[in-house]
Amino acid sequence: MVLTVRQDSKPSNHPLWRDGIQPLNLPSLNSPIEVDVAIIGGGFSGLWSAFHLLERNPSLSIAIFEAEEIGFGASGRNGGWVSSDYPVDPVTLKERHPKADIEKFWDAMRSCVDEIGDFASTHSPEAKFRKAGSLIFARNRAQLQRIKGSLFGKKRLLGPNETQSMLKVDGAIGSLFDPDCATIAPYPLVIALTKYLLSRGVVIFEGSEATTDGEYCQVNGYRVTSRQRVIATEAYKRPSRRQIPIYSLMMATSPLTAEERGMVTDVAGLAFMEALHNVNYAQMTADGRIAIGGRGARYPYGSRLRSSKENKESVHSQISDLLEKWFPQLGQWSVTHRWGGPVAVRWNWESYLFFDPLTQTGSIGGYVGDGVTMSYLSAKALADRMLGGEKYIDMPFFENRSRKWPIEPLRFLGANALVSLVKVADHEERFTGRESFIYKGASLLIGK
Ligand SMILES: Cc1cc2nc3c(=O)[nH]c(=O)nc-3n(C[C@H](O)[C@H](O)[C@H](O)COP(=O)(O)OP(=O)(O)OC[C@H]3O[C@@H](n4cnc5c(N)ncnc54)[C@H](O)[C@@H]3O)c2cc1C
Repeated sequence: MVLTVRQDSKPSNHPLWRDGIQPLNLPSLNSPIEVDVAIIGGGFSGLWSAFHLLERNPSLSIAIFEAEEIGFGASGRNGGWVSSDYPVDPVTLKERHPKADIEKFWDAMRSCVDEIGDFASTHSPEAKFRKAGSLIFARNRAQLQRIKGSLFGKKRLLGPNETQSMLKVDGAIGSLFDPDCATIAPYPLVIALTKYLLSRGVVIFEGSEATTDGEYCQVNGYRVTSRQRVIATEAYKRPSRRQIPIYSLMMATSPLTAEERGMVTDVAGLAFMEALHNVNYAQMTADGRIAIGGRGARYPYGSRLRSSKENKESVHSQISDLLEKWFPQLGQWSVTHRWGGPVAVRWNWESYLFFDPLTQTGSIGGYVGDGVTMSYLSAKALADRMLGGEKYIDMPFFENRSRKWPIEPLRFLGANALVSLVKVADHEERFTGRESFIYKGASLLIGK
């Protein structure tokens, strides 16, 4: 069957999730202010930090400062996987953190998926939280070997028939099913969470870029005095060797007909991806579109953020190719939305939580592409620490220090070699059916 991608209706950088949801248009700060806690960054990390602080101490006065608008960053643009995944595998995590309680960490991640679901069901029906699990499918033997190596917790290996019964993907020879994953429309959740915080008395400013010297914040030329501070700016932190921005791009099809949806999956809310080295992720949205994303955009020299990286035709067309390969039975579909955004990656590919008791300043982030659940857990752990608790200090992300990325141009060469080599590695695996040598070599370039 010949596949045709019909004409775009919204070719610009427009996340699907913003359709039909009004931005809040909150004021920017225009006078000095004093609060108990000042939070910098209006994405999930900043918003959940306020949420958890209030859960623990409802009398706190809290202000959130967002440079652009709430949900401007990855939180308003992501793929909507609320998963218990972490960018580093369980075996490596145990080896790296012998003193951490890794089982407790995975348990916490799984519970956080449900806690986000509880919030969404009560306060954000538009976010369409649906917990149907995730399916990582293999289309060659090397991929199958890899997913077998990721089997732990409640994950299950499915054979080809069981895989097909969940997702009618061409050429799948098996899959890994994880029941602890849900899908959402992220921007509506961000907006609902913001409204909830406003209703609890949190003051939230947009168009309010903040800087902090440890004891005070400076916002729009005004001083913000606070006992404690949270830095939750993720990939938007000033360029340094501590983390690099990697771009993830997405697109969404127009709503499929009921018959076409049935050709893809009957499992509402299923998250799915192929076990490629080149990261990819997809979900069937509540209104029957396929929202799919992946990496492949080049790393920008000097870690400087570039909005031009968010909408690369070459990457969007690679993502389109994936859909064509997975579901040739669909025949014809159209792309209505394309967008992208940066994620923060440290040299060790792990998340961090730091809290400095001297300056009373905390920071969380470094989620790579798994930040929807992780930002919730990090914010919860940070709130506990800021209020004197020690419940999460045995988690691997707590005070997690990483080597710095190499200086430029080594960083540029290494990161972009990886971007190219993962694609070659996927070709190699398709032809040989064996784990890629190229990938093993490439991972040394980037600290994995
Ligand atoms: C395309 C894409 C797909 C993804 N898909 C998934 C997925 O399916 N599942 C998953 O788990 N994760 C996914 N992620 C990652 C996930 O979205 C992020 O890890 C998470 O949203 C990070 O939240 P955050 O609040 O830490 O950062 P952000 O949402 O980026 O928020 C940071 C905010 O800080 C603001 N800011 C920066 N500097 C300042 C300053 N000086 N003053 C005031 N404000 C400032 C920014 O404007 C921004 O709004 C994806 C990311 C992208 C880009």
